[in-house]
Amino acid sequence: MEFGQEFGNYKNVVCARATDSKIQEVAQDGGIVTALFSYALDEGIIEGAVVAGPSDKPWTPKPVVATSTDELIAAAGTKYTHSPNVWALKEAVRQYGLEKVGTVGTPCQMMGIRKMQTYPFSTRFVADKLKLLIGIFCMENFPFASLETFTQEKMGISIENVTKMDIGKGKFFAYTGDKENTIGLKETHGYEQAGCNICPDYVAELADVSTGSVGAPDGWSTVFNRTDDGADIFKAAVDAGVIETKEFDDSVKPGLGLLSKLAKGKKDKSKKEAQSRMKMGLPVPFDKYYEY
Ligand code: FAD
Ligand code: SF4
Repeated sequence: MEFGQEFGNYKNVVCARATDSKIQEVAQDGGIVTALFSYALDEGIIEGAVVAGPSDKPWTPKPVVATSTDELIAAAGTKYTHSPNVWALKEAVRQYGLEKVGTVGTPCQMMGIRKMQTYPFSTRFVADKLKLLIGIFCMENFPFASLETFTQEKMGISIENVTKMDIGKGKFFAYTGDKENTIGLKETHGYEQAGCNICPDYVAELADVSTGSVGAPDGWSTVFNRTDDGADIFKAAVDAGVIETKEFDDSVKPGLGLLSKLAKGKKDKSKKEAQSRMKMGLPVPFDKYYEY
């Protein structure tokens, strides 16, 4: 199957997972983010990574500068609300004195970082130190109050008791221990942050390496290696046995067709939203991008 620009530029795409069972246990999907940062730390490629760590409040992530695999493991798993990881990059450089920094973020966070690297006014001291940007696929995100409201009001569970959250197969999942609680995504759409409606990037097109669950079987991840540095680090982690891969052939289900459909759908939706905002005279980011 041929794919077009819905995936952005990339060198190769594979199905992958971490081989370490400690990472597999806590990871959201294939544990690629945690395993790749852990490998990069061990090899001195980075000295620390800004990740979405735990805070005093359940499911309210706090950006932390992880300088060990244990800290990466403590921050593993997806939090379906904002974690302002970009904000903590300055802290990684200034307070921690790191010369080589990694970070993980949603596609919009990758856009912000690349913009900062392109126009590093007063930020060169951070921009030049970013050595590994891992982007995670993202269709939508929720303000924390919305997440708390719909889990409580619509699903009837207290967010404090939730042990894992996930989105897939048209549903939002909140696990309370062994119990699986679900709600259709049609019911959560109204709780999404409004900015997500105009966002064109599903697969973190500007990251060094981007990853998500869609396309891969359960417990595995889809991984795009996009830049030379990203592809080299990923290959080295595979060669070292930290990550195992399989090709996306016909035996790997659901496969890249589904990912392509979702990535295209997000671009189409964002274009429609942008054009309707432009008609109303509202400001639209990247307005030239939508004039086709
Ligand atoms: P892990 O090894 O578990 O590590 C996850 C890393 O992401 C950790 O370092 C953690 O600190 C960091 N992180 C967690 N939450 C956030 C956050 N909110 N902001 C920034 N960093 C964070 N994948 C899809 O395939 N389809 C989707 O539609 C999709 N939607 C998503 C929506 C949101 C809001 C988020 C945050 C993620 C979404 N993902 C989606 C990505 C997916 O849930 C996993 O995060 C991704 O597959 C990485 O899994 P992993 O096992 O490699 O990561
Ligand atoms: Fe950011 Fe876009 Fe995800 Fe919304 S949908 S959190 S704007 S990447």
